[in-house]
Parts: sequence; C-alpha cells; structure tokens
Amino acid sequence: MEDFEQIHVDSPESPAPAAPAETPAAATEAPVPSPSPLPPGLYLVGTPIGNLEDITLRALRILRSATLLLAEDTRHTGLLLAHYGIKAPMLSYHKFNERAREALLVEKIRAGAAVALVSDAGMPGISDPGARAAAAVRAAGLPVTAIPGPSAVTTAIALAGCATTPSFFFEGFLDHKTAARRRRLHELDALACPVVLYESTHRILKLVDEVEEELGPDRPLFVARELTKKFEETLLLPPPALRAHYATHSRKGEFVVILLPAPLA
Ligand code: SAM
Repeated sequence: MEDFEQIHVDSPESPAPAAPAETPAAATEAPVPSPSPLPPGLYLVGTPIGNLEDITLRALRILRSATLLLAEDTRHTGLLLAHYGIKAPMLSYHKFNERAREALLVEKIRAGAAVALVSDAGMPGISDPGARAAAAVRAAGLPVTAIPGPSAVTTAIALAGCATTPSFFFEGFLDHKTAARRRRLHELDALACPVVLYESTHRILKLVDEVEEELGPDRPLFVARELTKKFEETLLLPPPALRAHYATHSRKGEFVVILLPAPLA
C-alpha cells in the first residue's frame, strides 16, 4: 500500500480534469475545446532505438501537444511522427547548432511555449544533443521534464545480465584517435566493472582488435547489434572468437559493446 501511495500519477503536464458536460444548447454555440495545453517548459522525450512500438503513451501525448518540436534530424523525426499521425512544427537541433539555439529555446519557453526535444533515437542527452538545452533551460529558472524511453545502454545492460556486480560505467563513444582509444581502454579497465561502449559498424573490428591487444585475448565482450530491430544479435565472446564470427556473419548496423571485467585467474 505504501508503494502505491508513492506513485505520482499526476505529472505537471497531466491533462486537466474533464470539464462538466455542456448543456446541448451551450455546446452548439461553444467552439470545440482543444486538448489541454502543456505547461511551458522543455520536454526531453525518449524515442525508439529501432522498433517503432517502443514509445510511451506519454511521449506520444507530449509530441502531439507540444508547441514546438526540436529534432536532431527533422526528416528522421518526421517519419516517426507520420507513423503515429502526429503533425507538429519542427526546428532542427543538433550538435552544430545546439549552442546557437539556446537563447531561442529559453525565449520561446519564457513566452509560454512547451518545447519537446527529441534525438534520432533513444534518450536525448545520452551520446546525443539535449544536455546543453536541459542545462540552459534549468539555469534560466524554467522547468525541464524528461519523458523516459528506451536507450541502447540500458537495453544492452539488461540483456547482458551482469549478475556479479550491481554497478556499470557508461562511456559511450571512444575517441576516434587510436592512441587516445588505447589509453582510455586501460583507464576503463581499472574501474573493474562492466563498461558500456557505443560503436559504429565502421570501427567494431578495430575495437575488437584494440581490446585484444591492450587487455588480452581472453577478455569477454558482450556485443549487442541492432537492438530491438529485425536482425538483433547478441554475442558473449572473447576478441578472437568475435573476429571469427564477423568473418562469416553480417556486422551491419549499430553496436553496443560491454567490456566485462577480466575473468578471475
Ligand atoms: N541517445 C541514444 C541512446 O539513448 O542510446 C544513443 C545515440 S548515439 C548517437 C547512437 C549509438 O547508440 C549507436 O552508434 C550505437 O552505438 C548505439 N545504438 C543506438 N541504437 C542502437 C541499437 N538499436 N542497437 C545497438 N546499438 C544502438
């Protein structure tokens, strides 16, 4: 019972309770009421990482009722909106203009706008634009709300089942420069907990080679490819076996690699 009492069913943007029914005479004269508007603020909305069904009812409601949508790629988000029959005014918001958009964002919210921000996939601010917006809006004393959704990091960690340790470290993308990547692998190794890396199809074999050369051929790697999509694949193998696998299997798509702690000697 206590647990139930702690669940907040009323978020700040919950629709207002339904108004008492109009009398038939009044209803014919009054305009059709529009959906209750969202309170002004920034809404960071989680979107699918592949499977379009992975979006919450709350996310759809926010996207439908926001005054303005900031999207990492407006064409990409346009497809998601079209899938759900949502029409919304959109502006781009990506790593090349996020700084420049800050003033506009704060100004719009001050003027009463509810601005929803989405990235191409998953949670904004997780290896994606969104963090600067959240910080700027909060610094301006305006409300920031997150609408949680899928993220590749949490999906992969859940799948990996890292039962021996309650903690993990999220690194995201490693530096592209070889020397920095190799140095960083040693720093991450010292953490002695599972480390979550994001990787692209172009560098996945490079990463496998680097792990083998820097941390040894027995280091287990959990590799999740194309999570939530048709060709989802998960493997738990050391570097040489992974290389052998990819010699005969596709390595197209997106990857999460979890660097697991060294096996006990
Ligand atoms: N904001 C996203 C999130 O919450 O996970 C991450 C965006 S980041 C630019 C994209 C990277 O996330 C990909 O290169 C890949 O490493 C990982 N990723 C995203 N979707 C994925 C998927 N469906 N399967 C595996 N990895 C994925």
